[in-house]
Amino acid sequence: MTRRRLVVVGAGITGLTAAFEWRRRRPDDEIVVLEAGDRIGGKLHRVELAGQWYDTGPEAMLARVPDAVELVEALGLGDRLVAPATTQASVVLPDGRHPLPPGTVLGVPASAEGLEGFLSADGVARVRAEADLPPVRLDGDVAVGALLRERLGDEVVDRLVEPLLGGVYAGRADELSLQATMPALAAHLPRAGSVLGAAAAARDAGIRSRGDADGPVFVTVADGIGALPAALVAASGAEVRLRTPAHGLRRTATGFELSIGSAAEPELPGADSVIVTAPAGKAARLLRDVVPGAVEPLLGIPYASMAVVAMAFPAQELAAGSGLLVPPVTGRLVKGVTVSSAKWPHLGGEALLVRSSVGRFRAESDLQRDDDELVAAVVADVADLLRLSRPEPLQTELVRWGGGLPQYLVGHPGRVAAVRAAVAGVPGLEVAGAAFDGVGVPACIRDARRAVGALLG
Ligand SMILES: Cc1cc2nc3c(=O)[nH]c(=O)nc-3n(C[C@H](O)[C@H](O)[C@H](O)COP(=O)(O)OP(=O)(O)OC[C@H]3O[C@@H](n4cnc5c(N)ncnc54)[C@H](O)[C@@H]3O)c2cc1C
Repeated sequence: MTRRRLVVVGAGITGLTAAFEWRRRRPDDEIVVLEAGDRIGGKLHRVELAGQWYDTGPEAMLARVPDAVELVEALGLGDRLVAPATTQASVVLPDGRHPLPPGTVLGVPASAEGLEGFLSADGVARVRAEADLPPVRLDGDVAVGALLRERLGDEVVDRLVEPLLGGVYAGRADELSLQATMPALAAHLPRAGSVLGAAAAARDAGIRSRGDADGPVFVTVADGIGALPAALVAASGAEVRLRTPAHGLRRTATGFELSIGSAAEPELPGADSVIVTAPAGKAARLLRDVVPGAVEPLLGIPYASMAVVAMAFPAQELAAGSGLLVPPVTGRLVKGVTVSSAKWPHLGGEALLVRSSVGRFRAESDLQRDDDELVAAVVADVADLLRLSRPEPLQTELVRWGGGLPQYLVGHPGRVAAVRAAVAGVPGLEVAGAAFDGVGVPACIRDARRAVGALLG
């Protein structure tokens, strides 16, 4: 094998997985990861909270997309995987707190069963009445909210779907793409003819696709998902260059030349292959010369900003299950509270560990407060929502995520297809990451593996 040089742009989970997968297939190649920031991991990040490693980026990984579990096992860390002790979450609504009904697809119910109490009597009747509507006919992609409001009524959207989409995408049901955020449901719609029928089919297919149907839906890592970046760097043997944004890319006779460092005196490293995993806007800038056709669709993928506050309180009795989802109809600042001490067995120690997130797409003003003010407002909301008897925190850690989550707006699958088609015209180049086929960590890992597979054949 001739020795080749791979350059990966971005040291988030996508970029570091790509480096690791490449190393497994091409042990002798040179692998360089360029990272604009001053640490590895991108959105993966952990802090020490009351003496424990605690995630302030992703804290749970969907096990149904097997790539994350497979990666953790390939790193020799399979014994560090942890299943939740409880997944019973509740939704906070203006009329009180209600357990999340089971068996929904991202909040979309498969029947009206179990919705009494969660929705008003009229709301439940509206769900039942879907059976009397003509079959759904969709002409292309639509907003989740538009379809569900028409078929199942506003309450399903505002009380059930919005809190879940707010948690996963920090986005709004009325803007998010049905095909991109609920692909299984969208795929079953034409045959099922109804949203309830499609949700039932998607839910059942999801259960069947999990080889281990009784296994946990989510897992985490005992030392934090934030432990994975260092393990990936060590296992890949890649050279990681921090504080080194790539700001230009051009083709050469034999491969590529990147431009890094100062604009006045750039360094111009070469590469045989390049995998770009930077967020969409940065990727657009980098690809403008090599793949001009990818620029516009990439710029059509905006990002939501958010903040996570990790909190340790004195140990105390709580009855909040794994946590609370808090939709916009409540007018609250926080959009969710995870009771980590209850959710994850390894975090159930001396202190009560809780995290809460703030910030939705087009609601950036929620974050425009100084750090102390933001933490105080979140602590007050959390103490009230959890009805804490000892509300004085022992420790708090604030992490701001500017441009944290890409928004899969209506038409997203078309934008992704356009980017992929344009990039496919440039041999040796791939783009991957949260902007495309799933924001979750397992989906990013899957996309990194796809990119490596596409380049190596
Ligand atoms: C607060 C929060 C909570 C989340 N919770 C969960 C969860 O519980 N479960 C889950 O599965 N997912 C969760 N996610 C989503 C998931 O964490 C992310 O989608 C995923 O980690 C993104 O990985 P990535 O490698 O694609 O991108 P990133 O992590 O954004 O990595 C891209 C990297 O590229 C670098 N970069 C940018 N421009 C350049 C350049 N020009 N040159 C070099 N480097 C550059 C950036 O600095 C960054 O390090 C959460 C996300 C956030 C923000």
